[in-house]
Amino acid sequence: MTAGSGKTIADAVQWATQSLEGGESPAVDARVLVCHVMDCQQSYLYTWPEKLLSDAQFSALAELVAKRQQGYPVAYLVGKRGFWELELNCNPSTLIPRPETELLVETALALPLAETANVCDLGTGTGAIALALASEQPGWTVTGVDRIPQAIELAKSNAALNGLAGLNWLESHWFSALHPDQHFDLIVTNPPYVESSSPYLHEGDVRFEPHSALTAGEDGLDDIRLIIAQSPAYLSNGGWLLIEHGYTQHQAINALLREHGFTQCRGVKDLNGLDRITMG
Ligand code: GLN
Repeated sequence: MTAGSGKTIADAVQWATQSLEGGESPAVDARVLVCHVMDCQQSYLYTWPEKLLSDAQFSALAELVAKRQQGYPVAYLVGKRGFWELELNCNPSTLIPRPETELLVETALALPLAETANVCDLGTGTGAIALALASEQPGWTVTGVDRIPQAIELAKSNAALNGLAGLNWLESHWFSALHPDQHFDLIVTNPPYVESSSPYLHEGDVRFEPHSALTAGEDGLDDIRLIIAQSPAYLSNGGWLLIEHGYTQHQAINALLREHGFTQCRGVKDLNGLDRITMG
């Protein structure tokens, strides 16, 4: 028999919430962490608030709460994050998938592409965008590209976790390892785009994420410039390039796209009315 902690689920949630007070989302984080140590779904917390945690479960919770108090991201603590309809493994080798990137998936799915389109996700990280697209469009051939070998491993594990087969995964710094004959109907990317001196990099969860996935030179556009310059060689006739970016970067990216011969250039705003995607 395992020793009981004497703490119920309701106690544990309340304790964790109070301990995380002052953080970004104490109540939400507390529930995710309690679920993680109890290996249960969120609904279980509401159904069985009087259920007792074992000693081991409560100590595990205390350890996670202590790390969260230092600012360590919840997705790294529990190794998981939801994105689109998928559950994705996460680790510090890649950025944690953001809900705002779902707009990129939605925008890609709304493009007039063939049922058998050839699609590339540049800088795939956890594989979030590539997998969300493949889950919605089983006829598309989707290739996920990342420079970091651990990211490719993670993306492959996420394909398996979500029962998605048939994607291609390639270790490559942007286009460097792609075959010159390869052509895509859509290249979609959430590249690094934060200015290297941005104070944002020293606040909250992003402190623990790989900064190589976040920053791209003084104006944040170094990688986007390279992607825009090199994409035309890898796009099929009438193919689309879709880029997520910071809300002040739309005009610069639009101008770059035009310089490189893109037409039908336009931006997409998020729910707050901010420019977050530019395509051509
Ligand atoms: N939007 C991201 C953030 O909030 C930045 C991601 C990126 O650079 N691709 O941290």
